Order: sequence, then C-alpha cells, then structure tokens
Amino acid sequence: MAYRVTLIPGDGTGPELIEATRRVLEATGVPFEWDVQEAGADVMERYGTPLPEHVLDSLRRTRVGLKGPITTPVGTGFRSVNVALRQALDLYANVRPARSFKGVQGPFQDIDLVVIRENTECLYVGIEHEVIPDVAAEAIRIITRHASERIVRFAFEYARANGRRKVTAVHKANILKTTDGLFLKVAYEVASQYPDIAFDDRIIDNMCMQLVQHPHEYDVLVMPNLYGDIVSDLCSGLVGGLGMAPGANIGEDMAVFEPVHGSAPKYAGQNRVNPTATILSGVMMLRYLGEHDAADRVQRAVERVIAEGRYVTADLKPSRDDPTAVGTQEMADAIIRAMNE
Ligand code: NAD
Repeated sequence: MAYRVTLIPGDGTGPELIEATRRVLEATGVPFEWDVQEAGADVMERYGTPLPEHVLDSLRRTRVGLKGPITTPVGTGFRSVNVALRQALDLYANVRPARSFKGVQGPFQDIDLVVIRENTECLYVGIEHEVIPDVAAEAIRIITRHASERIVRFAFEYARANGRRKVTAVHKANILKTTDGLFLKVAYEVASQYPDIAFDDRIIDNMCMQLVQHPHEYDVLVMPNLYGDIVSDLCSGLVGGLGMAPGANIGEDMAVFEPVHGSAPKYAGQNRVNPTATILSGVMMLRYLGEHDAADRVQRAVERVIAEGRYVTADLKPSRDDPTAVGTQEMADAIIRAMNE
C-alpha cells in the first residue's frame, strides 16, 4: 500500500526543491501516492484565498504533508499561508533540528540542537490594528496554559524518545511577566514530571549570545512562537545556513514537513538553491511514517555527498561564485546515486 501524502510545491524556489525531494524519496523504493495541492499568491485569483479549503481537506484526509515554502507579502496583503495552515490544522509543535555535517564550513563542529517552537499562538495569532492611523499600532500576544503545557510536554517527550539529556525553556519573563511568566511557570510544572531529563531556562537575549558562544551546552530548546521562529534561523546559521535546516509541524495525528527557510524568491527558477533542508524534511517524514531504514539511507547519502563536497550547491562551496557548484537537481541526483552505491 502506497503512503498517501499531500504535496504542496509552494512558490519561489519551492517547486524545484519539492521536485528534488520527491525524486529522492521515490528513489528509496517506499511507495508514495502524491496528492498535489497548490497554495499561495498564484491561486488567489482562482479561489479568492491563498489557502483554499480543499488544500486543508486533502491534509485532513492524508494526515501527512510535504510542503515547499510559500511567500508572504511584507507589510500588506494576505496573512501567511504557512502560519494559517499550522493554526487551521492545530499543528502545534514545530520541530527544527540543527545538526553539523562533515564538510560544511562554519564556526563550530558537532552541533546537535533541536528547537521546539510553539506553533499556534503568541504574536502569530495576527491580531493587530492601527490605534491612530500612521501614528500608533497595536498587536495582541496570546499565551495560554493549554498551549504552553502541551509544547513543553512535547519537548520532554521528544527528549525522552530521542535520547536527549536536557530541555531549556526560552522566554522573556523578566519583561513580559504575565505572558512569558505563564509560559515559564507552566514549563517548570511540566519539567517536574520528567526527573530523568535535565531542565533549565534562559532569557531569550542571553540565549542568543549563549548559542553563538557555547552552542554545545544546549540540547532541546522549547519556546513560544516568535522566539522559535528567530532562534531556529540562528541555529541554522551555526550549521551552514538555511539550506541545511529541516523542519516538521506536528499535531495530535497529523504532520506537515517543510524546511525552516522561506521561498528565497530571488533564486526562483534558477536551479541554484540547496535542496538539503527540504530533503532532510523528507527524512523526518519517512521517520514519522515508520520508514526508518529508508530514512537512514537518505540521511547517509546526504552526509556522504556533503562530506565529498563535489556535487553540492554554491552555498556549500568555499565561495558563493565557485564555478564547480552544481544545481539543485544535480545535487539531488548525486544523493540518489550515493543511496544506490
Ligand atoms: P528565505 O529563507 O527565503 O531566504 C533568506 C536567504 O537565505 C536567501 O536569500 C538565501 O541566501 C538563503 N537561503 C534560503 N533558502 C536557501 C536554500 N535552500 N539554499 C541556499 N540558501 C538559501 O527568507 P526571506 O527572504 O526572509 O523570505 C522570503 C519569503 O519566504 C518571504 O515571503 C517569507 O514570508 C517567506 N517564508 C516562508 C516560510 C515558509 O514557507 N514556511 C518560512 C520563512 C519565510
């Protein structure tokens, strides 16, 4: 029986990254039946919304999605499709691992961090308005006991299931005493139920400095939505950049896998960006489906191709204009070859 998976190519560089990933996943021999669904600016005219209900219905049927990035207009226009999709399907846990790969230049080796970002509330509820047009504006930040408790519990369960030693809660409870104060209080309550896993907390600004100076002291980081969005990009910078950072949006019985990065529109259609983040999101999907052998094979092939450094995209070469850099699809081809050798 093939796995039915909703495939959302997205826009910008999304379609070429999803195409590369689809080919790698199919090369594992695991059978997939893709339900391809379009979302984003391009479908606005046809459906009057960038996230048509039939896309959500497809995910409600298949329970598993693989998604390319989708562009969100800055300052004006429609709300983020990515945020709306996570909220509509209650995909409350955004899991963003950042792991070093041999062969990738960077300030550190052996980084192995996981950011667990709350995915449904905080400032991303998107409630904002002008108090006085052009003079003052206001946004509402929602933090609830329910969402805080389930994301911290998710982080501890993730730590247990993956042999992790420590969870760190990240917050700004010194200033946001009521909202982050609630998140932190709940985090300590949940932590007391997991005596086998170490627990501490860090204020977000200090956390950023600590991650840049002493990343090896941290393991699983759990935090409200906005901090998770920012800190996960920081962590991807520690391991070679956004081209290397996969992600998963997990709900009770549904999950959508997508890279941390956005649509990188300036590179769209150029066969230039790194497919690793999207392919590793596919590896996370294989594990979610219980296909651990296939996941290991893709993971090892990615590691090998990157360690060899020959068939990699420009962002993984010593200089961005390195003439030996290969394209998105050629890197995927090399990964498929490495899988079959
Ligand atoms: P971005 O992540 O698209 O790109 C920032 C920079 O990171 C790029 O210019 C490029 O230098 C690098 N980069 C990103 N992906 C790469 C890859 N695969 N390989 C190599 N380098 C890569 O961020 P942005 O420019 O701030 O956002 C562009 C659009 O994407 C915006 O509309 C934003 O809202 C959207 N976005 C979508 C998602 C999502 O779909 N989940 C996430 C973040 C941003």
